[in-house]
Amino acid sequence: MIKEFKAFIARGNVLDMAVGVVMGAAFKAIIDSLVADLITPILNVFLNGVNFKEWTIHAGPIVFSVGNFFNAVFSFLVIAFVMFLLIKAFNTMVPPKEEAPTTKTCPYCKSEVAIDATRCPHCTSTLE
Ligand SMILES: [Zn+2]
Repeated sequence: MIKEFKAFIARGNVLDMAVGVVMGAAFKAIIDSLVADLITPILNVFLNGVNFKEWTIHAGPIVFSVGNFFNAVFSFLVIAFVMFLLIKAFNTMVPPKEEAPTTKTCPYCKSEVAIDATRCPHCTSTLE
């Protein structure tokens, strides 16, 4: 049981994943602060202090908080756009590595085969 558990922990990149989750949580705080403290005040100037939270639609006893939903959609779009800009800036600083292809397509059966294969394992054609 303990041996199995050890194998489970060692399998995959549990530690890498844990680091990713923790870094993601820390990074989320930065993004939240960036949006709430730096981006939203600028947008508020253009929106003339309109508070979407007050937008509601009353249908008899049912109250739809349309403004809250609009706020959620709006902040999602702002966060997505900020993330896009951050990743774009990051990619210009650290260009993503182009990985060398490890497979090629067999010209006869169009299956994927290893790049250095001399014979297709699917259709047995000779590859040069
Ligand atoms: Zn083939």
